[in-house]
Amino acid sequence: MSHAAGGRARRVSTTAGDFDNGQHILIGAYSATLALMRSVGADPQALLLRQPLTLTYPDGQGLRLPTGPPMLAFVRAVVGAHGWRWSHRLALLRAATGWLLKGFDCDPRLSVQQLCADLPATVLQDLVEPLCVAALNTPAEQASARVFLRVLHDALFAGRGSADLLLPTAPLSALLPDPAWSWLLAAGADCRAGWRVQSLQRDGAAWQLDGEAFDGVVLACSAKEATRLAAPVDPRWADKAAALRYQPIVTVYLADASLRLPQAMLSLRTGDDAPAQFVFDLGLLGARPGCFAFIVSGAAPWLCQGLAACGQAVLQQARSAFAGAFMATDTVQHLSAERRAWWLRATTSPARTPPRWRGRCVQASQPRRP
Ligand SMILES: Cc1cc2nc3c(=O)[nH]c(=O)nc-3n(C[C@H](O)[C@H](O)[C@H](O)COP(=O)(O)OP(=O)(O)OC[C@H]3O[C@@H](n4cnc5c(N)ncnc54)[C@H](O)[C@@H]3O)c2cc1C
Repeated sequence: MSHAAGGRARRVSTTAGDFDNGQHILIGAYSATLALMRSVGADPQALLLRQPLTLTYPDGQGLRLPTGPPMLAFVRAVVGAHGWRWSHRLALLRAATGWLLKGFDCDPRLSVQQLCADLPATVLQDLVEPLCVAALNTPAEQASARVFLRVLHDALFAGRGSADLLLPTAPLSALLPDPAWSWLLAAGADCRAGWRVQSLQRDGAAWQLDGEAFDGVVLACSAKEATRLAAPVDPRWADKAAALRYQPIVTVYLADASLRLPQAMLSLRTGDDAPAQFVFDLGLLGARPGCFAFIVSGAAPWLCQGLAACGQAVLQQARSAFAGAFMATDTVQHLSAERRAWWLRATTSPARTPPRWRGRCVQASQPRRP
């Protein structure tokens, strides 16, 4: 249906220039994604900046994994965490040992907040919450502890480099969609852009898309669209797809030619007036020097107040996090809100089911005021 390949992970053209449809990160444990890139001729080494997992703040506090085997690196990072008391470090190591002994599994009804209830507030704020939002795009009080532990397990046990951060140094479209499109064409595939499939029907062992026959079908679209298409052929499957909920992400692109971050990605302290959890220095990622992407994950409560209000709150947050920066009147370059960015990795507990995001402010449980 779109004229450009890539879906949510693509380059978009705006009046202010070309931007990615939101900053993306990968981790070393994304082995299938990296293999897919290689198979279509996109070299991850050339297109992604690999660095040890670092969740540090502008003041230098936070966690920085050294290189080496991920499990050992994690222990060394916790022991060396800046700004943490010994009791904080020991509490996290104790909790992590407990998770390890239980095979990184837990009651599916637990939220990440419940799983980590005994950890000190500093560890929650500096590590658990940013990690949860980065990996699951879901706030700790809603996020499934089981999914969180699974991500931790994969990051720590999928081999050397599995916890590394991989940051795109090329436009998103160059990372996979464009090479994949060329690869498919070269292999003789009939690739059609701009065709919105209207109907899916079963025809014996074969399928019909808008009346045209195909041997097989893979639905690789949003759950909403998949529900619409699958409902006539498999209502039970369609119901399951319809039950998936999404979390929005807002990306605010700000400019300041005089600012350079100490590293490509920094964590930010969030609060009632501070929506963004991360900032990326696009200059350090080989893109736009002096341009910074501020990320608001799990952005539903902010979007309820409108995208412009969210952008203003991020601007104020940026000014206070980086004193003297982002003061020019044309600082805000571009605002992007993707309402169905990720499906919600939420706990299965009915009591904790988050409010449904309907694309406008209908159920803001705790709207925040910028
Ligand atoms: C701002 C943002 C930040 C993100 N950050 C990260 C991150 O850091 N790490 C990470 O792993 N993931 C991240 N994600 C999620 C990631 O982008 C998505 O999981 C991924 O792009 C999903 O790919 P997909 O191919 O499954 O679906 P999509 O990218 O949604 O592609 C679906 C495609 O199907 C097409 N389509 C839909 N309906 C029809 C129809 N009826 N007929 C024909 N075509 C149709 C659409 O046009 C689209 O091209 C982020 C997403 C956003 C928006």
